[in-house]
Amino acid sequence: MDKQTLKQRCCEAIDQNRDTVFALADDIYRHPEMGFREFRSTNKMKEAFEGLGLQVEDGIAYTGCSAKAGSDNGPTVAIMGELDCLNCPDHPDSTEDGNVHSCGHHAQLANLYASAIGLIKSGVLSELCGSVKFIAIPAEEYVDSDFRNTLINDGKINYYSGKQEYLYRGGMDDVDMVLQAHLINPQDENIVSCLDTDCDGFISKRVRFIGRASHAGFAPWEGVNALNMAQLAIGAIHTLRETFRDDDMIRVSSIITKCGEMVNTVPAEVEMQLMVRAATLEAMLDSSKKVDRALKAGALALGGKVEIRNEIGYLPLHSSRELTALYRDNIKSYLGLGDDAFISEYASAGSTDLGDISHIMPCMHIWTGGISGALHASDFKVTDREAAFIMPAKMMAMTVIDLLFDRAQGAKTVLDAYRPVFTKDEYIAFMKDHTGTDTFDGSAI
Ligand SMILES: [Zn+2]
Ligand SMILES: [Zn+2]
Repeated sequence: MDKQTLKQRCCEAIDQNRDTVFALADDIYRHPEMGFREFRSTNKMKEAFEGLGLQVEDGIAYTGCSAKAGSDNGPTVAIMGELDCLNCPDHPDSTEDGNVHSCGHHAQLANLYASAIGLIKSGVLSELCGSVKFIAIPAEEYVDSDFRNTLINDGKINYYSGKQEYLYRGGMDDVDMVLQAHLINPQDENIVSCLDTDCDGFISKRVRFIGRASHAGFAPWEGVNALNMAQLAIGAIHTLRETFRDDDMIRVSSIITKCGEMVNTVPAEVEMQLMVRAATLEAMLDSSKKVDRALKAGALALGGKVEIRNEIGYLPLHSSRELTALYRDNIKSYLGLGDDAFISEYASAGSTDLGDISHIMPCMHIWTGGISGALHASDFKVTDREAAFIMPAKMMAMTVIDLLFDRAQGAKTVLDAYRPVFTKDEYIAFMKDHTGTDTFDGSAI
């Protein structure tokens, strides 16, 4: 069978099952679950894959499930859909707990299921060389850190995010490349997709300034004011901003999470959380070092102490231009569109854990339309179900056909162009090497 016929059969199978896909999307949307709590959503995806006759592995990264189909005579292409929702109590569709899919991950699961329908029900996989791994992956959003710390302390997970955990557990060992689409509002009705996605990575910091309490009226001179240390540190961070190169897209965000107890007492302890984002690993590490210096400057000036807990959040995402080109060409020919239907280069200071995987193997991360409002906001809404739930699935399934048709020549081209930054072991070592607590005591100076 020629490639065009395979693609046509695949899309027909998806079209014939669109109501089933919509039903799954709606069900997941009505039952949103936060990261590493997605037991119901995992089960739903498991049932959906089993309905296609696939053997399913669940609990793949604490929650989450996967199913593989195809043959061993070629590479494995993964299609990923994220399971987790957000907490956004202002959203009109949020549950009693405030949970809602305001990042549109329910659409990713619809895409994942529909692409599986297309490739399995049409029977096209038997005409291809290699296999497809359908992965419903947990916990993409970097939130809920107290809960995740509990899971880590209980030995249930090792990392903060689903893809990191899955990678660590060996789930990606048999995968050669990844396809994923994510909803976005392109703010222009003529734009169908934002293609070559790059994202910042980030380092997360938990900081504790430790001073000494004293009566704020009787004897403030006997205290060491931790709030003043934090204030100086924040000022020092601001003075660093002019040293950040535009190309590195560095963002430093901070909040104060604990800030003294009583106004008549000099605050002895102040806690902060910070995120340092940047477009490259080098810029991430360099700007993180500068921020640590600024934090220590606050402690030094007041003669107090600061503890800085550093953790790598996510690594920067650099998506495979070769994978994107296949996806774009499928849209152009299937929908009869020209180059003006795309934003080609799309760099953002947002972050995703697909960035971690992109350091080990080629990854595609497409931004696709079909919504109004903004991601993570109370006005987020899917307005075009065909564009959000069906179209990206067809495009990813057809991209799989491009990759694995004709002795998987397409996949070979993608792999030949790719230069890994890390092996899996090097990645795990990198994460470990850059996690730790640095304590600076300014009282000794
Ligand atoms: Zn999100
Ligand atoms: Zn998202």
